[in-house]
Amino acid sequence: MADLKLSDTRDLTRIERIGAHSHIRGLGLDSALEPRAVSEGMVGQTSARKAAGVILQMIKEGRIAGRAVLIAGQPGTGKTAIAMGMAKSLGLETPFAMISASEIFSLEMSKTEALMQSFRKAIGVRIKEETEVIEGEVVEIQIDRPAVAGAALKTGKLTMKTTEMEGVYDLGAKMIESLGKEKVQSGDVIAIDKPSGKVTKLGRSFSRSRDYDAIGPQVRFVQCPDGELQKRKEIVHCVTLHEIDVINSRTQGFLALFTGDTGEIRAEVREQIDTKVAEWREEGKAEIVPGVLFIDEVHMLDIECFSFLNRALENEMAPILVVATNRGITTIRGTNYKSAHGIPIDLLDRLLIIATQPYTKDDIRMILDIRCQEEDVEMAEEAKALLTHIGVETSLRYAIHLITAAALACQKRKGKVVESEDITRVYNLFLDVKRSTQYLMEYQEQYMF
Ligand code: ATP
Repeated sequence: MADLKLSDTRDLTRIERIGAHSHIRGLGLDSALEPRAVSEGMVGQTSARKAAGVILQMIKEGRIAGRAVLIAGQPGTGKTAIAMGMAKSLGLETPFAMISASEIFSLEMSKTEALMQSFRKAIGVRIKEETEVIEGEVVEIQIDRPAVAGAALKTGKLTMKTTEMEGVYDLGAKMIESLGKEKVQSGDVIAIDKPSGKVTKLGRSFSRSRDYDAIGPQVRFVQCPDGELQKRKEIVHCVTLHEIDVINSRTQGFLALFTGDTGEIRAEVREQIDTKVAEWREEGKAEIVPGVLFIDEVHMLDIECFSFLNRALENEMAPILVVATNRGITTIRGTNYKSAHGIPIDLLDRLLIIATQPYTKDDIRMILDIRCQEEDVEMAEEAKALLTHIGVETSLRYAIHLITAAALACQKRKGKVVESEDITRVYNLFLDVKRSTQYLMEYQEQYMF
């Protein structure tokens, strides 16, 4: 584990399928935890948001351990949005992972492995590193032979070729003086403080570019206009335990993060990583940032998964688990027993339950307004009213989907503002659930053989 790889994760862009919720930036509560009518992308659903705020307070005070949150409510009433709002309120670095319970039943990996991966996607590790950093303008100078650098510093003249300039660079007698007898070789980094002309050798290891050897011998000059050479700086990066797992478990690990083809991760790899992370924590180099894991359609989990959840909640690094369902009393998968929400009693006991309510017409109108802004779609008032009506009659989710489609229809007719005709066109093109079922019922004889 000595070669535990972290550097590769630095520039990682996290790919998240959260487009539908990109407008959610928090729970929209004031300092007294009262929900503002419209704030941080959130609209309505005041009592659920208030309850979520109280839970956040418990989390901040460290009083949530061993417990989880259940959001119960009809489809499209903002369960995912509230879970995401909680994560966002906990801070920018707080990871948010979401899965639908049915996703974990796949042939590629066991269901507990899939759950474990989801848990670790929701646990962040904040790593602090001290690196030498110099603030100033960096000029890269390529020199043909190592000896030239040394010679140049003796004479004070250097012929150089850089991307920015080419020609003879006068290092100045002052600079040579301040470097003294120190030898400069290719690959060295020296800093030139422009106003005073002071030259400092910063060593060879500093921020060598990866393709250094391919480029050939080079000396890097750092010009510091303000006379101050800043040498050490703390760099902080945040990765998830899952990212560390993947990178260390396969040769092509890093790419697997993008393809999602991570496969099963061996228990030993995870143990080693946990030990290493524990070491870093002790040395003050790393902190754990518990995130939010959201499991939708939780009634789809079976009894083995529920046991896994119970155990996982006991772990000191556990993320905040938020589960959601729209079911009442139903069978617990893998058993013959029925229970509330299809969740076994021992887990139910640990849950703080929040309920979401169906939206009013005004709420729907406001959410559609926010989504139009988010998607950069200009819509006429009349069209908005029509879309709101569709949202009330069908579902909020369906109406949100029509925004993008209507914008495309508008573009096609070379319009700039989405009008009612665009909404009508896409409404006739794409069925909502009610019309799609009706259609199937009307034509069922032609479908069933
Ligand atoms: P399901 O049960 O189908 O998973 P859900 O209850 O999780 O649905 P969401 O997916 O959160 O519902 O909501 C549907 C859409 O409406 C999303 O784009 C969501 O961001 C948006 N939305 C829901 N509630 C709110 C709200 N209170 N404020 C702003 N946007 C909301």
